Amino acid sequence: MVPVVRASRDFRRACQEARVDGPLALVPTMGFLHDGHGSLIRAGRNLAPTVAVTIFVNPTQFAPNEDLSRYPRDLEGDLRRCEEAGASFVFAPGSPSEIYAPGFQTFVEPGPLAAPLCGGRRPGHFRGVCTVVAKLFALSRADVALFGEKDYQQFLIIRRMAADLDLGTEVIGRPIVREPDGLARSSRNAYLSPEERPRATALWKSILSVRERFRSGERDPAALEALARDTLARAGLRVDYAELRDPNELQPVASPDPSTRLFLAAFLGKTRLIDNAALGE
Ligand code: AMP
Repeated sequence: MVPVVRASRDFRRACQEARVDGPLALVPTMGFLHDGHGSLIRAGRNLAPTVAVTIFVNPTQFAPNEDLSRYPRDLEGDLRRCEEAGASFVFAPGSPSEIYAPGFQTFVEPGPLAAPLCGGRRPGHFRGVCTVVAKLFALSRADVALFGEKDYQQFLIIRRMAADLDLGTEVIGRPIVREPDGLARSSRNAYLSPEERPRATALWKSILSVRERFRSGERDPAALEALARDTLARAGLRVDYAELRDPNELQPVASPDPSTRLFLAAFLGKTRLIDNAALGE
C-alpha cells in the first residue's frame, strides 16, 4: 500500500528525500477521492518521478455555516485510489494542528481574482485555500502542482499566488473529469439523494445549451446567461450564479468568444454544485 505520513515534519522530510531523485509533483486534495483526483495523479506521473498527494479537509476554507463537519471522508478508500493512480506517498495530517499549530495567525490574502463568482458568495474561502496551499508548497517545495479546472477560479488564484510570492512551484490546470451523463465528478456528489442525482445533470445541460446558442451566433452575454439560468431553474435548481467571464482575469465580457467561460453554481436541495466550461470547446 502507498506510504502515508501523518506529521508535517515527516512530509517535509519525505519530499526532501524525493527531490534528490528528480522533480516532485504535488496533488493537494480534501480526500473522498474520485477519478477527477486520479487524473491529476496520473498527469503528475507524466511530469515527475515522484507524486505526493495531500488529503486534508482544510477548516480555514469553510465558513461557519458550511459543510466542514459533514464533509465526506474515507481514508482507506483514498489510499487505494492513490495507489491505483500511481501516487508515491500521501500526506494525511493526523489532526488540523499539524497544519495550524497553536498560535497560528498568518494568512495569504488573494487579490481581485478572488472577488467574483465563488469568492463573492463564500467570503474568506479563497483566503483559506491560498493559505493551506502556500503551506503545502512550502513544506513540499514541489516543482509542479496539479489542480483541476473543475475549480477554475481556484486554479487561477493559486497560479497567481505562486507567481506573486515566488513560491517556486509551477501550477498546472487539468481538464474536468465527468460522469458518463456529464455531471462533473465531485466529492460533494455523495450528498445527492437518488432522486436528486439525475437532476444534477442540469449544469452540464446548461453548458451544452449555451454552447449551442453561441454556435448559432448569439453574442449577447445577457441572453446566454439567461439561457443558462433558465436551464438550471427548469430542473428545479436554485441558481447561485451563471456568468460569462474571460478565462484569464475572470472579468465580465462584452462580446464572448470561444475562449470565454461559462461559470455555474447552483443548489440542488442543500448541495451546492459548480461547473464551468469554455463556450468554444
Ligand atoms: P478537492 O478534493 O475537491 O479539494 O479537489 C482537489 C483537486 O482535485 C482540485 O484541484 C480540484 O479542482 C480537483 N478536482 C476535483 N474534481 C475534479 C474533476 N471532476 N475533474 C478534475 N479535477 C477535479
